[in-house]
Amino acid sequence: MVRKSSLLLVTIGGVGCLQEGRAPQPWKPAPVAFERTLLGYSVQGRPIDAYSYGWGADPVLVFGGFHGNEKASVHVAEKLIALLQGNSALPAGRSVVIVPNVNPDGYERNSRQNARGVDLNRNFPAANWKASEPGNSSHGGSAPLSEPEAQIVLDLVGELKPSLIISIHSISRNRQCNNFDGPGRAVARRMATRNGYPVKASIGYATPGSFGTWAGKELQIPTVTLELPRPADANQCWADNRGALMAAFQGPLDDRALGK
Ligand SMILES: [Zn+2]
Repeated sequence: MVRKSSLLLVTIGGVGCLQEGRAPQPWKPAPVAFERTLLGYSVQGRPIDAYSYGWGADPVLVFGGFHGNEKASVHVAEKLIALLQGNSALPAGRSVVIVPNVNPDGYERNSRQNARGVDLNRNFPAANWKASEPGNSSHGGSAPLSEPEAQIVLDLVGELKPSLIISIHSISRNRQCNNFDGPGRAVARRMATRNGYPVKASIGYATPGSFGTWAGKELQIPTVTLELPRPADANQCWADNRGALMAAFQGPLDDRALGK
């Protein structure tokens, strides 16, 4: 994913050092070995970055940190970045783009919502989006895409056109699962063979305006919401899911490729 002026704006091979004054740029698809891309800024001005690895069509898009209090999801995404940075673990022909911290303001405050009290995972323009009262822990915002972080995610999906999306969250212990939306059952099953979590078509409660509803059910992009157990040691979550993520990257990404 090479962007305009990338030589000036992108750090090759470095993770974690912020660059002041960087300006978001549109994506310009091209195969690269590694690139870090500034997608935009949170409500409070924190950068939201993407890390791209590998060559090949059919990119996989991985998100962590939609909910700022689910810190293990950011940890797992960052460990995945470190893994891909350090070796050629990706299968040939696979490319992966990782956004490790979608909600950096919430992460900083250890809150589920962003800085304006909106649950970003209820702020997507799915047909079932609905307004809720500010203060509600799952407040969906004043309108779909009212929040810049959700807009950044939507723009990335639109420009990258991923063939699979994995969104990492956490959930109360014993409810951890590989939850899929749209044609993502096959990938969820592959992940289950490695992490031991059940495969679920529904998380068990309504999620109006959720990312999975919008991307998976409505856009029909295979989408797996990986729900880590909470509380759980973040390093244990990585140990349990490293193989699951690598298994997701290897093999058919879409149920429709299997004739299901
Ligand atoms: Zn969550």
